[in-house]
Order: sequence, then C-alpha cells, then structure tokens
Amino acid sequence: MTSPIRKDILKRWHDAADFIGTPSEAYSLRKTKVLKGKGDYFLIAYSNPYRQKRYQASSNLEDCVLCEVLNRSKENNILDIFKDEKFPFLITPNIYPLIEGASIAISKIKKPMFDVKTPNNLANELETLFNFGDETGFRIYHNSFGMGATIPEHEHYHLLNFSPFTNGLGEEFGFDGARDFLEIVLGVKKMAGFPFAHAIFEQKDPAKIEYFIRKLNEAHGRNYEFGRVPNSLAQGQNGILIVPAKKFMKKGRGAGDVAGRWYCVDEDALEKATFSSAFEELGEILFKEDEMNVKSLL
Ligand SMILES: [Zn+2]
Repeated sequence: MTSPIRKDILKRWHDAADFIGTPSEAYSLRKTKVLKGKGDYFLIAYSNPYRQKRYQASSNLEDCVLCEVLNRSKENNILDIFKDEKFPFLITPNIYPLIEGASIAISKIKKPMFDVKTPNNLANELETLFNFGDETGFRIYHNSFGMGATIPEHEHYHLLNFSPFTNGLGEEFGFDGARDFLEIVLGVKKMAGFPFAHAIFEQKDPAKIEYFIRKLNEAHGRNYEFGRVPNSLAQGQNGILIVPAKKFMKKGRGAGDVAGRWYCVDEDALEKATFSSAFEELGEILFKEDEMNVKSLL
C-alpha cells in the first residue's frame, strides 16, 4: 500500500491550501465506483462536484497561470511547500485538488512541456523529481500537449499520493494493481491486461524514458498537427508508465485515467460508467497494441 505524504510537507500543503482558499470539500466530496473487467487491471471511476468547476471555469490563455503562481510564491512564501530555492520546480498545492495533498511541480524556467531538444534534460529532470517523490511521498504524473494538459506551454507535473483511494478500497487498482507483465526488451515491460500501446520503465533508468520520447516523436510526430506525439506519464509501484495517444485532444483523458483513476464529469456519468465503456473511450484515443511497434522505439 502507498505510504503517506511526509508530515511536514502535508502540514505546509494545508497552510498553503487555506491561504489560497481551497475548502476541504474540494477533495472530500469524491464519489467512487469500481469498474472491473476480466483481468487484473481495473479502474476506479470517480466524480467530484468541486472539481467540476475547473472544467466550467473559462481559462484565459493569454496569461500563463503557472507564471502567475511562480510570481505570487515569491511574495507569499507560504505557497512554496518544499522550500528549497535551488530546486528547479516550485512545489505548490493544486487549486482543484483531486485528493488531500495534490500538488503541482511548476518548472521555475518557463519552457514547453517535455521539451526534449536539450540532450539529457528530460532524464535529469525526471531523476530529480523521482528522488523528490521518494523523499516526500509524492508520485509523479505528467500529461502533455494534446493529452490532458491544459497549460502545455509551461512545463509542470502533477504530484499525488493515492492512499485515500487505495485505503478506502483495500486493494490496489489500475497500473498499481496490475500483477501480470510481459517483457518488451530488457528493463522495459508492459501490462498483460492493458490492450493499448504502452511501455513501463524502471524508475532508476530515466535516460531510457527520454530516449523513448525522442524516438516516439521522430517516428510518429509528423502524423500530428503540432509535430509531437501526445503522451502521458504515470509513476506507480510497478514503474513508470508511458502511454502515447493517437489523437490530439485539447481536453480529455490523461495520465490519471490511464493509470486507473477514471474521471467522470458528474454523478450521472459516474453512474453510467462501466469497464467496457471506459475501454471503448480509451480505444478512441490510444493505439491498439498492434497499431504501434513500441519495441522499435526502445
Ligand atoms: Zn508560465
């Protein structure tokens, strides 16, 4: 089971969330439902009325919200919950927290998401964040332009800890619950029960992830309007899951959904959600296993 977020960090998270004005119902009003199929991979569908507001809020893309937060944190140190000036990311609460402690790591240098033009930069960045996560109890999630990211022009990661989900359920689910794996190449595997193109890397080898993202864009980027392959990254107890998308979606599913937390926009959608309807929706945006040769990109 997932160990909790480090106590001092969680205390600062609450102080910062109070400062921002995030009410506790933001993360306590969640309703969940288990969506089980045949295999070991199953989903937890959830809805949260507070979080719905996020989707209704009109975003003004002319001003970068993340730059605003960076500026605010310089005036109000309370927003910085890690308090390490040399750390390349500001760690601050998510304004619409899915769960207690949900935070964002905002790159202190403004650059587009998953910019892999600088050699080794992504690998170094991931290593820094994985180490930070080991130290503090967070897991790292990354959406990209065209797959779940709403602010793709400014690099940021989502930091979450699932204890509230898994402890309520009593068993691991999604990527964390998977037990049946197949090796693609040495050090990279896939889930037997997840029928879409994906790869699972070892946390200790982020250089392989950078290589894969680079190859993915070289081989398939030309098929997308913006020359990049939308993809998601989710850290779990079984490694680092990367899932590319075949369709560019400005809003839609991201790392949390493919890792097993299936977001439903409201209670009605939650009621209707089934394992097969969720997989059908995933099938519209993800490559089927035989539609992409993942091995050739490793
Ligand atoms: Zn920005």
